[in-house]
Amino acid sequence: MADITSGSCNCGGVTYTVRGQLREVIACHCGQCRKQSGHFYAATSASNMDLHIEDSGSLKWYAASEDAKRGFCSECGSALFWKRNGGEHTSILAGSLNGDAGGIKLDRHIFVADKGDYYDLNDGLPQFKQAN
Ligand SMILES: [Zn+2]
Ligand SMILES: [Zn+2]
Repeated sequence: MADITSGSCNCGGVTYTVRGQLREVIACHCGQCRKQSGHFYAATSASNMDLHIEDSGSLKWYAASEDAKRGFCSECGSALFWKRNGGEHTSILAGSLNGDAGGIKLDRHIFVADKGDYYDLNDGLPQFKQAN
């Protein structure tokens, strides 16, 4: 099946399509993801070859660390992408997908050592203190 998934930020200033398989969704509870999202990150991922930014009008990249960049809409503030420098994949915030996610599911939690103390994780999914 030729999967084509689309997504956008909240205001529509950034739109994208993915042609190909999306990874399962991983929730990241690290400090940077918590700050940027306001809670925690839940992201799928696609090969850079499969991800096509259709409209990048308000897309801005922010280097939160020396290792990676975070793409967001400079108009509405939606967090959209995470990309390791030199990496071949781009993480895509699951909440930015339009409509059905095509069967992908939340799969695990990472960096739970850094998670906020105001919420509990009790969905039964695997938890990792750091990256996985
Ligand atoms: Zn926007
Ligand atoms: Zn993170």
